[in-house]
Amino acid sequence: MSAALCFDGAEAWPAHRAGATLTIDLDAIAANHRLLAGLASGAGCAAVVKADAYGLGLERVGPALLKAGATEFFVAHLDEAIALRRVLPPSVTITAMHGALDGAEADCVHHDVRPVLNSRPQLANWRAEARRQGRTLPAVLQVDSGMSRFGMDTRDVAALADDPAAFDGIDVELVMSHLACADDPADPANAAQRTRFMQMRTKLPDAPASLAASSGIFLGPDYHFDVVRPGAALYGVAPNAAHPNPLRPVVRLDARVVQIREIGAGDGVGYGLTYRATAARRIGTIATGYADGFARHGAVASRVWFDGIELPVLGRISMDSMSIDLSAVPESRLSSTMSVELIGPHRSVDDVAAAGGTIGYEILTSLGRRYHRTYAAL
Ligand SMILES: *Cc1c(COP(=O)(O)O)cnc(C)c1O
Repeated sequence: MSAALCFDGAEAWPAHRAGATLTIDLDAIAANHRLLAGLASGAGCAAVVKADAYGLGLERVGPALLKAGATEFFVAHLDEAIALRRVLPPSVTITAMHGALDGAEADCVHHDVRPVLNSRPQLANWRAEARRQGRTLPAVLQVDSGMSRFGMDTRDVAALADDPAAFDGIDVELVMSHLACADDPADPANAAQRTRFMQMRTKLPDAPASLAASSGIFLGPDYHFDVVRPGAALYGVAPNAAHPNPLRPVVRLDARVVQIREIGAGDGVGYGLTYRATAARRIGTIATGYADGFARHGAVASRVWFDGIELPVLGRISMDSMSIDLSAVPESRLSSTMSVELIGPHRSVDDVAAAGGTIGYEILTSLGRRYHRTYAAL
């Protein structure tokens, strides 16, 4: 089954049968791309759409970003790049940040995907592929400026500088690195990585440079170089905690209340009966749980909203459901078709993340497939 069919299948959970509706605002994603491009002081603004566009649907988000002006796209895996290639024109550049794994080089060429070369063996394999193909192949070179994750380190770079044949048959179109602490503007690691990045570049083929992802853009022009690579910020996630979030929210999640009951003092709720009522309470059950991205341990700090009223989540979150305290909602407003806001104007993706002890990135990529999905303005 193709990725497109999987996607349509997920989207096709009809609203009247699904426990919750996930609304994704493609215009807000486009607006966020324009905002970030404007902040990037003349650098090109690529778009990172790995992990199914952070869970929001590659086949819809990719073309929306193209319309917003993005011409360079980054994903993690080669197969994500191949899926994206199907929905974007040949004129755009698609870069696989994990590069071509050993043995996948010919597939990379065949699907017109530009690999990030992260190691000397990857570089050697890409050189060999260029020889086999009898032509020059494009590539991005990643250097490790201090995160110790992907990329060539200072010893690798020194060895490459000593080898006149290192880049035979390879057109280095971009040199990139990635910041470990960009979400904290005060962290000295940011300047240290920038300095090391610039030093490493001097030993490599002259090419445009890219260092900043979402948070790095907000560190200022010194970090922008020639291309910025935002992902999370496109999808409305706050780039750092130091400033109000300037990005437009992109998702809304509304869950239906599928059962309502009254409990009395002493009654418990959920697995382990970790919540015990001290007085009469009205409990609503909603059909969204940890399999839908709401961390089991996050219940204590979790809230949902109904018509401007904040409602606590009670007890443990189950795999497919959670319980909420509906006591504050007037009886006249209760109905079998009512739904509550899990993510939306009252509760941002970052708020949900904070309640679960994680970051907005993980909330978005964990939302899963068990919703009615709709692409519409928020
Ligand atoms: C994920 C990733 C990005 C995008 O990061 P955001 O923080 O989501 O903007 C950019 N570059 C690399 C190397 C990445 O892994």
